[in-house]
Amino acid sequence: MLPFKLIYSPDYYLPIGAHVFPAEKYRLIHHRLLETKVADESDFLMPQAASDNDILLVHTPDYVQKLKTGTLSPREEMQLEVPYSPELVGAFWLAAGGSILAAEYALKDQVAVNIGGGFHHAFPDHGEGFCMIHDVAVAIRRLQHKGNIARAMTVDCDVHHGNGTAAIFAAQQSPPAPLPSTSASVLNPGARAHQAFAGDVFTISLHQGNNYPQWKPPSSIDVNLPDGIGDDDYLAWLDNALSSGLRQFEPELICYIAGADPYKEDQLGGLSLTIEGLKRRDNLLFQVAHSKNIPIMVTYAGGYARRVEDTVTIHCNTVIAARDVLQRP
Ligand SMILES: [Zn+2]
Repeated sequence: MLPFKLIYSPDYYLPIGAHVFPAEKYRLIHHRLLETKVADESDFLMPQAASDNDILLVHTPDYVQKLKTGTLSPREEMQLEVPYSPELVGAFWLAAGGSILAAEYALKDQVAVNIGGGFHHAFPDHGEGFCMIHDVAVAIRRLQHKGNIARAMTVDCDVHHGNGTAAIFAAQQSPPAPLPSTSASVLNPGARAHQAFAGDVFTISLHQGNNYPQWKPPSSIDVNLPDGIGDDDYLAWLDNALSSGLRQFEPELICYIAGADPYKEDQLGGLSLTIEGLKRRDNLLFQVAHSKNIPIMVTYAGGYARRVEDTVTIHCNTVIAARDVLQRP
């Protein structure tokens, strides 16, 4: 039995037909975790769909109305890059409910993993890049709304920039300032941070600079990684970004967006991490959170490996890394 909960529903499946997004990955991860005895059935919690009021904490009434009535314009549907259906709306509301539950359980158990979610390209008034609803932002706003937390940090390690996250939480950012010179020599020139951070959500995005989305609204810390970097460089940059972020901001919850697409065999990514390197990445996140006693909730975001089994392995390893860190004496 795991020392934390996994959030999963068979209805996480996204009804999008033949698509580069492997909608069956959630079911395969659930199956693999049970088959390999990493988890047993009692480790899983079944989420409920988020309420419309929860969704409206992040998204505009106009956008929510369009989703619920199937009245997106053709251009809006094209930007979403997944075919609209009422069932798809249901799956995204459920993913948001799963992230809310994961955030609540992280506060209780220090760690919780949503076997789904991480839809970081959704904006308040539109969806894009396979993301209709920003489940992580909904979870943060819901916990803040209920008074469970005041401050959260997002750490986005998907290969693609967290543009939706940056836009949603941008309103309260202070103007950009360069990192201290000692850090700037380690972070690449594309990295910058806001000092004297005034907002209630601090956003870190570590992504391939030369990849979707073309327009990258500023996060609190953006690390624009060069094409093709491997495990050691990636981990050094991540370590630096985390240290810098946690010097500026004390979160009561970390929301880790654990994309599997920095993997060298990814079809939509251009970095060169190995499966082992991605596990070291996960380990670093859990170790840092654990050592500072900060609850951490995980969502899965993207993963488009040529072999879907690799994507499943990378996502399952995230659960194993959390277990290993929590169970270390
Ligand atoms: Zn991605």
